[in-house]
Amino acid sequence: MSKVFIGLEIHIELKTNSKMFCRCRADYFGKLPNSHVCPVCLGLPGALPFPNQKAIEQVITTGLALNCQMTNFSKFDRKNYFYPDLPKGYQISQYDLPLCQRGEFQGVRVRRVHLEEDTGKLFHETVGSEKVTLIDFNRSGVPLMEIVTEPDLRSPTQTKDFLKNLQQLVRSLKVADADMEKGQMRCEPTVNLEIEEKGKKYYTPLVEIKNINSFRFAEKAIEYEIQRQQAEFSQSRIEKQPGNKTTRGWDQKKQQTVLQREKEEAADYRYFPEPDIPPIRLAKDQIERIKKQLPELPEAKIEKLKKMGLSDYQAKLLSKTDTDIQILEEGVRIGERVKVKIAPSKIADLIINKKVKTAKEIIDKLSVEKPKMKEEELLLAIDKTIEDNPSVVEQFKKGKTTVVEFLVGQVMAKTKGQADPQKVREILHEKLKSS
Ligand code: ZN
Ligand code: MN
Repeated sequence: MSKVFIGLEIHIELKTNSKMFCRCRADYFGKLPNSHVCPVCLGLPGALPFPNQKAIEQVITTGLALNCQMTNFSKFDRKNYFYPDLPKGYQISQYDLPLCQRGEFQGVRVRRVHLEEDTGKLFHETVGSEKVTLIDFNRSGVPLMEIVTEPDLRSPTQTKDFLKNLQQLVRSLKVADADMEKGQMRCEPTVNLEIEEKGKKYYTPLVEIKNINSFRFAEKAIEYEIQRQQAEFSQSRIEKQPGNKTTRGWDQKKQQTVLQREKEEAADYRYFPEPDIPPIRLAKDQIERIKKQLPELPEAKIEKLKKMGLSDYQAKLLSKTDTDIQILEEGVRIGERVKVKIAPSKIADLIINKKVKTAKEIIDKLSVEKPKMKEEELLLAIDKTIEDNPSVVEQFKKGKTTVVEFLVGQVMAKTKGQADPQKVREILHEKLKSS
């Protein structure tokens, strides 16, 4: 018997115009290498960082949506480590006073959400016959939000779903595009197991899987890691040591995780307060203002759709696109107006399976299935509608032909939705033009 513990560290690039601490443009993707750089993001001596207000607000927005506790005092710290993609020799990040802490999202506790800067990008290539490493600093200094969860996830599939939902959340908040293929969202799952044998519990050593850039890879890497840790424990019975973490990488070709570093501790980074940036003080009303601007969150949308009678599957799918929800709502409204009871789940089905893009298409598609009414009855209803709405007819004659839709609606109401709206539309056009 064993229990799985999975925690996540997720890095998401924020959608801002400029970088985190300078005025360089943040949209580096596909741009000429080292074209979006300045002394600040190149880490040249004497250059001073200046924090991006928008990025700070975006982290607060996300923290609020993740039900975090907000702080009125936060600061930046230097995380020191040596790597060529980090020109200053340290990353400006947040250590003990992150912007947001202790949240909860879909049953998973969120430990913290903090703000930092992205690093440059290394390219290992062969130039001539020489193996070289090239550096592109366009990404250096792009605002990066880091979300850390408690180890509350219990399976690879649950983890994948959590990541997908988180992606949808930050997209709906408009704080990030979080496109994993573009490296705008990267995750690092931490995995270990609780193994019970003869009433005694053992814990396998913590393993962090670095830099995963696809939902599927995350799921596969965790699956593999669970098997590997189980096998390793039954062979060597090595147990978890406090504070110790091994890092491994996911090798997609070999379909396995591979050892990178044996031991890693937070103290290695020699964190200390960033002396070039004053602490951040946030007034209560600033946070309140951001709270008021929060859009309707995906979870609330899904609940609303399910209340309308949509299945769990339909609700989740439709909640991803605001225009789909609008089409659904309009379809229901039109249905009510023309007194045809159309089940919202039926409209959802048309949107999902028939790729219907307008409410009109919905009415057309659904009306076709109903018994046809007599021709003379229909013509009578149309004539009566024209007679009853002289001002609308007038507008049509002046060139505002879109008003015909109003008349179609009236005819549909008169015929209790039994007419074919397309046919009604054609007859109306003919009659109005010739009258
Ligand atoms: Zn710059
Ligand atoms: Mn980080």
